[in-house]
Amino acid sequence: MKQGKLLYAGKAKSVYRTDKKETLIVEFRDDITAFDGGKKDTLKNKGSYNAGVSAFFFDYLEKHGVKTHFLQVLDERRMAVRTLSMIPLEVIVRNIAAGSIVRNYPFKEGTKLDPPVIVIDFKDDSRHDPMLNDDLIVALNLATPAELKKIKTIALEINRLLSALLAKQGIMLVDFKIEFGRQGKTIRLGDEISMDSMRLWDRKTKESLDKDVYRFNKGDVMATYNRVSRRIMTGTAGPAAIKKKPAAARKKGTVSSGKAAKPKTKKR
Ligand code: 5GP
Repeated sequence: MKQGKLLYAGKAKSVYRTDKKETLIVEFRDDITAFDGGKKDTLKNKGSYNAGVSAFFFDYLEKHGVKTHFLQVLDERRMAVRTLSMIPLEVIVRNIAAGSIVRNYPFKEGTKLDPPVIVIDFKDDSRHDPMLNDDLIVALNLATPAELKKIKTIALEINRLLSALLAKQGIMLVDFKIEFGRQGKTIRLGDEISMDSMRLWDRKTKESLDKDVYRFNKGDVMATYNRVSRRIMTGTAGPAAIKKKPAAARKKGTVSSGKAAKPKTKKR
């Protein structure tokens, strides 16, 4: 597959055309931003950690019946994906109160939200991603009522699958943001699912294992991304190929390259 022209460059990812109209390449860059781009840095290997975890989750979700844009891993930071017409919604699923809902509503941080709370924001940086409701989404022609229902059903299924997967690694899925797109009439999960778009807490210590480490200067964010990506991808539920650690790592009980392990590539 030949990488073509740059189609779009976001804050942390670039999307390229390929020689096939129906296929794009997503590149995870080393850029990290927070607070609407108010805080910015470039951190070595960050792109490969997020690419690895995203590919791992997409692969896992596909195997469990969720339709995604993921096709195959190309290298440490690039993946081939299906071309989608993206829907400008940020669908956030919350299992535990944290972040903006604690700032904006009278929730105490750490309160369990059962059933999970879905919040949908309008993906529009110039308006600071305002929160929408179902009527606004339909009135703005962003999605039909049937599509919205489908999106919420898929979001809850993803939450169920990923919460269970992460729980096996002693990780709590506090919340996450996902985006969807259309391929014809089919709604597919697009964008990424990574430490940049999730809140993850260690079950025992409640330590942040995600971008909050960067947002709130809680420590060495790349050391956190390195550790958590390994913890996620070497779990019992992952593809067999990535369970194996290099010999050096097996001896020391840690992986020495500083880069995220690559999930098994699989063409769909
Ligand atoms: P909050 O609304 O509390 O800031 O974010 C809720 C969850 O959605 C967090 O896991 C956060 O990382 C994710 N999230 C919200 N907005 C964005 C965004 O614009 N980009 C990314 N990557 N994640 C977001």
